[in-house]
Parts: sequence; structure tokens; C-alpha cells
Amino acid sequence: MALMMSVSGVRGVIGESMTPVLAAELGCAFGTYLGGGKVVVGRDTRPSGPMLQRALVSGLLATGCEVVELNIASTPAVAFMVRRHGAAGGVVITASHNPVIWNGIKFLTDEGLAPPPDRAQSIFETYRTKAFKLAGVDALRAPAVDKSADEAHVEAALGIIYPDQIAEKRYRVVLDSINGAGSTEGKLLLSRLGCEVIHVNAEPNGRFAHTPEPTAENLTSLCEAVRKHKAHIGFAQDPDADRLAIVDEHGNYIGEEYTLALCAMYMFKAHPGPIAANLSTSRMVDDLAAAAGGPCRVVRSAVGEANVVAAMRANGCRFGGEGNGGVIDPRVGPVRDSLVGMALTLQLMAIRNAGISQLVEKIPRYVMSKQKFECSSDRIARVLAAVRSAYAQEKINDIDGVRIDFAEGWVHVRGSNTEPIIRIIAEAKTQADCDRLVADVRRIADGV
Ligand code: MG
Repeated sequence: MALMMSVSGVRGVIGESMTPVLAAELGCAFGTYLGGGKVVVGRDTRPSGPMLQRALVSGLLATGCEVVELNIASTPAVAFMVRRHGAAGGVVITASHNPVIWNGIKFLTDEGLAPPPDRAQSIFETYRTKAFKLAGVDALRAPAVDKSADEAHVEAALGIIYPDQIAEKRYRVVLDSINGAGSTEGKLLLSRLGCEVIHVNAEPNGRFAHTPEPTAENLTSLCEAVRKHKAHIGFAQDPDADRLAIVDEHGNYIGEEYTLALCAMYMFKAHPGPIAANLSTSRMVDDLAAAAGGPCRVVRSAVGEANVVAAMRANGCRFGGEGNGGVIDPRVGPVRDSLVGMALTLQLMAIRNAGISQLVEKIPRYVMSKQKFECSSDRIARVLAAVRSAYAQEKINDIDGVRIDFAEGWVHVRGSNTEPIIRIIAEAKTQADCDRLVADVRRIADGV
């Protein structure tokens, strides 16, 4: 399997494309780019993590960087600690929701975000040309270890809600951490909120108990556990704990789109104002904004965490996220964070004195459909142009592919940044309308 390189980092298969030599050279490249500054390094729980961490840290040290190792930490905790240390950058060793044979190396800016595309390219260029600036012996330092990330990150998440209000409710919560990097932080957060925690797949040992992506088909055991323990709610983290999926008190998987919607429901009331979401995210948040009224509205951004954050900053948003279960609260950090998702969802339940299924009932229901097909990169541009002109009379947003909004739903067509494929995402009130939106766009694409 070939190495995948993108702004969000490098991913490869262990024993094939993801090797310690690669990790060491990427460490040299990133250290060269940072000019030997301070770097915070963390990893998820994959068995390949320690091997890659040692190699990567060697590369960073070779360029004279001051390295702080967190060892196992969630992606949002690494980003948090980069800012707390005032570091020049960070690195997370994770392949997020990819299966365990994969691992990845993700660079972070001093804010804990993915570097802008031009900077990412320049780091990769240094890697390819091996133009490393290696330090002399006087500049070499030993790495330091910081064990305070769990505590610091949890404290920050507690700071955005009213823990006493939640604690009064004595919620029984099933947490599935998939034996991933969010295990310790997730348990600590819920315990501090006075929850009775039934923690499944709770060992940060990287043995993923099910396919990691937190989708319905992968979370049947969590749904069963919620029913069995008569819990108020079930939470599922992905292996690096930036995404969160929710199961209601009846053991129904309610879908990752609802994580953002439920948190937005709370935020629109508690902190009225605009929020940001990417173009592929459900219309539920727009409905909630309209119902909340006043300054509440949804700003749409290009797909990708850094793009959502840029839109949040440009529009003064206090909250944002993506429909994949990734919610962002800048009070904790400008990154997707499953701890923020859990904290805001429980706060919503507590303040409304309502069960999670009751709250879901209040949100207009939609059907979503996703399709992808192969398409060469030059043809992608022609397909997008054809779609744009076919719907020229409609409400169009073309900051990232083309999204067309109709009364009954919307369709978003975009080319992938990493593969020669086009994705079509549609949402409508009925399956028939949704299928028709996808089919109409597909017909236009096939005619190009
Ligand atoms: Mg992830």
C-alpha cells in the first residue's frame, strides 16, 4: 500500500510504507522547518506507536528541537498541550479511524492545527530532497516527558460547562473508547461529571475491539451495552478521540451528524451567535439556528478541520464542527474534540432535564445519501463546471466543489484532495428526494 500524503499528514501501512526510516526523516524535515524549536509529540494506542515515536523524536532531536513527549494522548490533547507549552509545533502519531495495520504522522502548527497547504508542501519538499538542517553536538538535547496532558485537557473541557448541574443528575453512561487514545481522558471527564461510567474497550492498548470508524455497523456492541445497563446515553470515541458518536437511552445509534446538532442546540441557547460547519454537514444545524433566531446562523466552510476553524475566526463563531462527529469549541482549542462533544451533550440533557431521545425528537429529521465514483482530476473540474451551470438559477455555494440548496434538501459535489474521485452527498426529507438529488447530479457528471 502506497504512502498517502496530504495536508492532514502522512499515512501508510506498517511493515510496508510506514517505517521508522520514514518517521525519522519526517522528524528531520519538520524540525528543519521549525528551525529547532519546541515540539510536543503524542500518539494514539496502536502497537506501532512506540516504534514510530522513537524514530520521529530522533529526527526532531537531530535538528536541535526541544522535544516534549506526552506518549499516549488524544489528538485534541496533543493540540492543547502544544498551546500550553507555547511550542512551535506538534506531532501526533495516529491514523485516526483507519484499521490497526495503518499508522500516520500528523504535523501541528503552534495552534495545534494542520499546517496550511503551502507549508505542508514545503515540509514534504524538505523530506523529499533530504535538505535537512542537522544540528551540531552543542545543540542536541534529551527529550522531556510531560504526564499532565490528561488532567490539563479534562480541566479545560470541564471549564466550558457547569459540572455541578450534570453531577446532580447522576447519569449512567456507557463509554466505548475502542482501546484508543481517549480512554483515560474520557473516563476522567465523565467521572468528574459525577457519572456512573460503564467503560467498555477501556484499555489504551491499541487492540481495536471493532472496526474503528464510529458508524452504526461498528457500534452494535455499544448499543447492546446501553440497553443492558439501562444507561442514559452511550458515547463512542474514534482511536484518536477527536470524533464522537452517540447512542440514545434505548440503545439506538443516532448517527454522527447528531453530535454537532445536539451541541449546537445547547450553544445556540447558551451563547447565541453564528456557528460554522462544513458544506457536507446536515441541514439540522440550519433548522436549529432558525428556531433559535436572533444572531444564530450557520456559516458554511470548505471541508476540513482547518477550513471550519478559518470560517469560525472570520465570522466570530464561538462553536463549529463537522458532521462526522467532530465538534470544535475554541475555549478548549481550535480542533475537533470528543471530550467537548460529551461535555456539551450532557450539559444539554441536564439543562433541559430531558433524555437524549427526547432531544433528538426536537430536531427535524433528514435522510442523507453519500456516493463516490472514480474521476480523473482534469475531468473533476469539468464535472463541477457542468453541475454549476446546470443549477445556475438555484442557490449555489462553490467554495469547495459545488453545493446546491433546494427547498426539499441539498446536494454537495466535490473532488477529493487525495484521490481521483468525486463525492456526491445529498440530504432531503425523504429517501426518494435524496436518491433523486444524487441521480440528477450523477446524470450531469456522466454526460461530461
Ligand atoms: Mg480521528
